[in-house]
This record gives sequence, structure tokens and C-alpha cells, in this order.
Amino acid sequence: MKIAVVGTGYVGLVAGACLAENGNDVICVDKDAAKVRALQRGRIPIYEPGLEEMVRRNRAEKRLAFTTDLPKGVRSSQIVFIAVGTPTGEDGSADLRHVLEVARQIGKSMNGYKVVVDKSTVPVGTSEKVRAVIQKETSHPFSVVSNPEFLKQGAAIEDFMKPDRVVIGAEDQRAGQIMKELYAPFTRTGAPIMMMDCASAELCKYAANAMLATRISFMNEVANVCELVGADVDQVRRGVASDRRIGAAFLFPGVGYGGSCFPKDVKAMMKFASAKSYEFEILRAVENVNERQKVRLVAKMKQHFGSLAGKRIGIWGLAFKPKTDDMREAPVVPLIQALLDAGASVAAFDPEAMKIARGIFGNRVDFKEKSYEVLAGADALVLVTEWNEFREPDWTRIKKLMKTPVVFDGRNIYNPDHLRGLGFTYHAMGRR
Ligand code: NAD
Repeated sequence: MKIAVVGTGYVGLVAGACLAENGNDVICVDKDAAKVRALQRGRIPIYEPGLEEMVRRNRAEKRLAFTTDLPKGVRSSQIVFIAVGTPTGEDGSADLRHVLEVARQIGKSMNGYKVVVDKSTVPVGTSEKVRAVIQKETSHPFSVVSNPEFLKQGAAIEDFMKPDRVVIGAEDQRAGQIMKELYAPFTRTGAPIMMMDCASAELCKYAANAMLATRISFMNEVANVCELVGADVDQVRRGVASDRRIGAAFLFPGVGYGGSCFPKDVKAMMKFASAKSYEFEILRAVENVNERQKVRLVAKMKQHFGSLAGKRIGIWGLAFKPKTDDMREAPVVPLIQALLDAGASVAAFDPEAMKIARGIFGNRVDFKEKSYEVLAGADALVLVTEWNEFREPDWTRIKKLMKTPVVFDGRNIYNPDHLRGLGFTYHAMGRR
């Protein structure tokens, strides 16, 4: 099929590459000329495992191209995906400016029947708005489809190629059939293609993200209570997760959720519910708990050291989660800010997010090129993002480098007995 994907960010670029991988002709459109130039030269602007090779392969096969020319992309395609950002607006709701601007441009560029697919995460009713905007610009026939994306950064290729399910909100049969054909190769393993109305499809995405954020905040509260009552969250988690009604995913306590999706989608869902006079009280609590959790490690550090003034803190991990360079809403940002405000100095390392982190903190943080370099003279090591390379470090070497052997494990990845046996003071989240 001939496809245009507008927006070549984490979602659009992955979707474009994966659609090309299954034999479609894909043209990816972005208004960011520098990004498009880089992509045309084979350079990938984001870190996502497997993406670079997939883009290279499909460009070489001439199934994948990049342009800033939206009309050209639209005219040469039957299916046009909208995959631009929907950031949090000033009042907390999803800002639809980019989506509606792209819709308008699509409308102006129409030269025949198109299926316009909204892949961005958008509040209920957006497909109607997109339809109205396009309608104003063209007399050509078109369908609007809602097709929310559920990929996880860090495993985006795998998720897109082998989704748990594909959700398609389509109001007419013609578009529904085209979408089913498009996704058939991705669902050969039996994953369902779920056809529904647009409003339900749009809400699916928010409900899924809000549920996951709720599990994280819930488990963080369980961990905090564990500390107060003398229980161990690892044991509690195992006991709870083995219940098949609950399951094991998303039950790990930590430093709070971040990223470009959970914080903004939780906010947006509260907002569109309250626009209908419904207060989504659970989500308000989920958000509050998350804000508190982001600086909980700092409180632990203050408790340990008394004052943080003059202390040197080494940080491992800056991205909001492993296997991505994304630092949007990363919990490490308020954590580092709180350390700096308390008079500590911070050295930090991340395998992929250093460039972005430098853009945020400049020279207020001492960024190091290698993980062990942040430990020289450090009063404490704080593990924030659980990259694989941090999982089995050389503790003897670490102890020699540090001023005092103190570890704050924000993800509960280290063995407390082992570390204490080696002479470290070990703090974690809800563990004994
Ligand atoms: P992103 O910010 O990485 O990428 C958006 C891209 O759209 C940018 O490259 C930007 O230049 C481009 N763009 C903006 N306006 C444009 C225009 N008028 N014309 C052409 N290009 C334009 O965003 P993202 O993380 O890929 O997210 C996109 C959408 O997908 C959001 O709604 C998000 O909530 C949703 N989503 C994201 C994820 C994720 O893990 N990042 C997962 C599922 C869904």
C-alpha cells in the first residue's frame, strides 16, 4: 500500500519503518527540515534499538523516503497517518494544534480518496474535529480513522511488529477494510484487530496509560508503607503478582513514572473528564503520588547525611527509562534539581541521554563519559535508570573510587545483602 506518515518522532518514525518493512511504500513527512535532512542521509535522530538498521534497509530497498513536502506525501498515498505530538497544553488538556494543522494541510493536498489515520494520542472527539477541518478544505472523499499506538519506547520495533492488539476506530466499512488489510501482516501470530467506534478507540489509549500509571503509583505507595511497617516490597510484590487476576507487569516500585506519555495522558484524561463535570479522583491521586515519589530519594539522602550541602552525588541513568534517550518528564530532572537546591554537587552518566541532559542542565551537572567516572570522590551513588550495564557493576572498584560507600538504589536492582556484605550502606525503595 502507499502510505504517508506525518511526524517522524518516536512513533511516526517507528511506524513508518515497520510499515515499510512489511512491503509498503512509505513516505515520512516532518516539518523539521534538519531532522528530515539527517534521515535522508541515513542518520537517526533518536535512540531506539533496531531502528537504524530497519530504516537503512528499507531506504536501500526504496520503500522508505523522507520529506518536508507534506502535499507530495499526501498526493502519493492512499493512507495518511498523523503521528505528531499532542503535548500538555497550558490548562493540562492535550494540545491539538499540531494534529489539526496537519489535518488542514492534508485537506488542502487531497487529490482523491484517502484514509486519514490518527495515530497521535488524542481526546475523544478529535476524529470529528479532524474530519471537520479536512471537510472544509476539500470536496474529495475521505475517511477518518482512529488508530492509537501502544508501543513502548525501548522496545518500539518489537511492539509495532508484534502488537498485543491493534485498535481501530472506523466509522465506515471501506476504511475499516483497508486498515484490516494494512495490519494483517502484523497480526499473523493471532493478535486481535479490534474494530470499534472512534470515540472508544480514542479512549482506549488514555485508559491503558492511566491504568499503567495507576499501577506504578499504587506500588510506590505500597513500597512506602512497607518501609513504615517493616515489610519488604519485593516479597509483597511477588505475593501479589502471582494472583492471575493481577499479574506481574508494572508492579515495580521506583522513582516515579516519566516520559512523554504517562504524565501528559493522565493529565489530559482528568481534563476531558472534568470538561464533562466528572472528577477523575483516582488519577488526581496517581499524579500527586508520582510527584512525591520523584523526590523521595532526596528525602532519604537528607535523612542519611543530615545535610546535603557540599556532598558529591554520582548518578547512574538519566533517561526516563532504559533503552531510550528520551528525557521528557524524566524523574531524574526534579531529583537533580532538588540535590542542587540542597547544595550538593552532581556528577552523572547515561548510555544514551547525555546530549539531551546537557541541554537541560548545562554545566550545573558534571557529565562524565564513562559510568565509573561519576564515582570518583562521590559521597553516594544513586541508581535512577536501570540500564543493563548498571546491573552487575564491579563493587570493589566502586568502593575504591567513592569517598563513602553509600548506594541509593531507586529501582531495587541490587542485592542488599551482597552490598552490605561488601561494606556498603544500602538504601532502596520499600525493601528491608
Ligand atoms: P515526537 O515529539 O517525538 O514527534 C513528533 C514529530 O512531529 C516531530 O518530529 C515534529 O517535528 C513533527 N511535527 C509536528 N508538527 C508537524 C507538522 N505540522 N507537520 C509535520 N511534522 C510535524 O512525538 P512522539 O513521541 O512520536 O509522539 C507522537 C504522538 O504519539 C503523541 O500523541 C504521543 O502521545 C503518541 N504516542 C507516543 C508514544 C511514545 O512512546 N513516544 C507511544 C504511543 C503514542
